[in-house]
Amino acid sequence: METRILLVEDEEHLARGLQFNLETEGYSVEVCERGETALERLSNGSEFELVLLDVMLPGISGIDVLERLRGRGNAVPVLLLTARDTEEDIVVGLDAGADDYLTKPFSLPVLMARVRTLLRRAPKATETATFTIGDCTVYPDRFEVERGGERSPLTAKELGLLLLLQRRRGSAVSRGEILQDVWDLHPETKTRVVDTFMLRLRKLIEPDPSSPRYLQSVRAFGYRLLDEEPD
Ligand code: CA
Repeated sequence: METRILLVEDEEHLARGLQFNLETEGYSVEVCERGETALERLSNGSEFELVLLDVMLPGISGIDVLERLRGRGNAVPVLLLTARDTEEDIVVGLDAGADDYLTKPFSLPVLMARVRTLLRRAPKATETATFTIGDCTVYPDRFEVERGGERSPLTAKELGLLLLLQRRRGSAVSRGEILQDVWDLHPETKTRVVDTFMLRLRKLIEPDPSSPRYLQSVRAFGYRLLDEEPD
């Protein structure tokens, strides 16, 4: 089965170039120019495995598309293509539910690397050893977490966050350090993205996500992965 990518981009020249290069890499690409069309094409949810989403579109914006998509529970990986690289724009995108972002103009090899990572097919040079959290097993090389025989996929950022906490297991890690390490953002950046991702991870990992045992909050600071199994 070919991997299907939806490219939402109104600049025709750029869209054609990206489509050509992605198809050369073996992906199946559908292009649409407007956010409204993208939402229609994504209404069944499962047809596309990745969305490349331009922010500046002629009708509703890429951010609107993303918010509506996440609002109806669609968790398809989304890579935002932003025209400006101000931290504020990036944060708006991440808070709206983007998995990653690229600032235009970007290089093709960088885009391809991000695409592979979001599709969880990137070879990871290090940290491929599996580890456990409670009754879950995390498989970094497969971008998966398994619990009670059920496997769930992890996005690159979700895995990056888990790996950081695992490296520092038992110690509190600040939000600022997480932002810098996982998102490459300035530690002082005002965003809820770390907390949003932690909520998602707790749903996958915690027996009771509303009362976390393993992925613990450290008040006014950050998060800690419990180093020992509780009794
Ligand atoms: Ca545009």
